[in-house]
Amino acid sequence: MDGFDDFSKKLENAGKKLFKKTKEFADTTKLSIKLKDLEIDLENLFQQAGKKAFKGEDTKEVFDEITDLQGQIESLKAEIADAKDMKICPNCKSEMPKEAVACMKCGHKFE
Ligand SMILES: [Zn+2]
Repeated sequence: MDGFDDFSKKLENAGKKLFKKTKEFADTTKLSIKLKDLEIDLENLFQQAGKKAFKGEDTKEVFDEITDLQGQIESLKAEIADAKDMKICPNCKSEMPKEAVACMKCGHKFE
């Protein structure tokens, strides 16, 4: 019966792995939807800024909002990468596997 025990252990582990992957997928999907929303907001802000600039109005407030939103988008992207066991290259913003020692796109060396 030892062989069977082994087999059921393996099956159990495979099930756990699958569950983890499914959860990861659900998490990244939710985060991706949030990211899309933020990117749409950002587009709207850029349009607002453009209109204000055209009319000669003060754009500082909109620019501040844009900077703030860009920061949120950056950290959300990092969160998504993390959920996928990836990281973002600080130099070129490409997604790289967490274990990579250097960026495969731009050659940036990770600490
Ligand atoms: Zn890079």
